[in-house]
Amino acid sequence: MTTMKILIHGASGRMGRALLRLATADPRFQVVAAVIGRSLPALDALSIPVFGPGQLGNTPNFDVAIDFSQPDGFDAILGHCLARNAALVSGTTGLSAEQQQRLTDAADKIPVLWAANFSIGVAVLQDLLVRASAALQGWDVDIVEAHHSGKKDAPSGTALALGQAVQRGGGKAPHYASLRAGDIVGEHTVQFTGIGERLELSHRAGNRDIFARGALEAAQRLAGRAAGSYQLAELIFR
Ligand code: NAD
Repeated sequence: MTTMKILIHGASGRMGRALLRLATADPRFQVVAAVIGRSLPALDALSIPVFGPGQLGNTPNFDVAIDFSQPDGFDAILGHCLARNAALVSGTTGLSAEQQQRLTDAADKIPVLWAANFSIGVAVLQDLLVRASAALQGWDVDIVEAHHSGKKDAPSGTALALGQAVQRGGGKAPHYASLRAGDIVGEHTVQFTGIGERLELSHRAGNRDIFARGALEAAQRLAGRAAGSYQLAELIFR
């Protein structure tokens, strides 16, 4: 079996640590570089080469970069993938419209996949929302999301993606509410309110492994493809 060479960008973060743990235990992957924003002593034991954000140019070549960092680190990893002609899987949320456009432009040259949420449950929820919105025309729509207190962007990228699914189904523009508390991994409820009745659809993430596994599966399927912008559903769920 040929192992896929991956670079993990944001490796010292909550998602990065889950990715490192799962990728290093999976024989399909070889983590050739971990790009961190702060020190991560456990990496010494794993013998993975570690690079700071300013040292991207020094990394070995890789097939695909998996990026779960912050928006201010996104342009650098996108540029690095272009320079190395490697694929990019990114779950970093809070990207600006200009960054989304740069990602779209990069897809002319390399395979890219960005998703606000890499869990199977949220992919199914998006499908359900298109159907519910089409059936509940004119109902008020509210999206309430809760995350840990360290999350920077609000509403979450997932909440915005759920809102887009509602609008694809012809539903009203949603109102958003965000809670930031404790160590909540990620919870989203979409509430449709009519006259005298209410429908709620909820997803609760119990741990970060669900996102990390989705990102690794996406990386496995993305590397080696033609340049282009790929959707999670077309690579994994169909
Ligand atoms: P975190 O704050 O725990 O980790 C962020 C990591 O990025 C850290 O290692 C930090 O050092 C690094 N970083 C910060 N700025 C950087 C820069 N300029 N250059 C390089 N590295 C930099 O955050 P987290 O909880 O791991 O989440 C990371 C991102 O992933 C967030 O945008 C979050 O919303 C998103 N996320 C997406 C999904 C999904 O399924 N798409 C799931 C969970 C989290």
